[in-house]
Amino acid sequence: MAKQKKKQNKVSCEECTGLCCRYFALPIETPEDEEDYDDIRWYLCHKDITVFKEDGDWYINIKNKCKYLSEEDYRCEIYKKRPKICRDYSRKECDLIEGEYDYELHFTDDKQMEEYMKIKFGNNINEKKKLKRKGKKRKK
Ligand code: SF4
Ligand code: SF4
Repeated sequence: MAKQKKKQNKVSCEECTGLCCRYFALPIETPEDEEDYDDIRWYLCHKDITVFKEDGDWYINIKNKCKYLSEEDYRCEIYKKRPKICRDYSRKECDLIEGEYDYELHFTDDKQMEEYMKIKFGNNINEKKKLKRKGKKRKK
């Protein structure tokens, strides 16, 4: 699991609503061809999903609050037995910081990926996919 990184940290956990417990990000394979990018477009068709590239690596970000984050005081309800990944999470990597994320690429919507693919691969991706499928049928 990966946590997103920002550049500097100016806010204490006491002042925070537990932002780092409201999502998780997982590394995904680096897309190589049009089909790989189209798979990412599919991820982005889903609610509360974003995809970003940072330091050359790609991640899928799932916005989903941990069920143990208290909405009353924003503390961890299982603090003493919280998972290792939570224990290892350093304040240096904290999200709640002024400044920008170090994203190389950040997609928050499938339409953004569609536009990106049009520029990267040219033509209309749906037309290209149709042609590809027709091509496969002809071979059979
Ligand atoms: S580490 Fe950052 S995001 Fe997490 S609770 Fe502390 S201030 Fe908030
Ligand atoms: S287990 Fe606790 S520290 Fe870990 S994500 Fe959930 S609320 Fe946050």
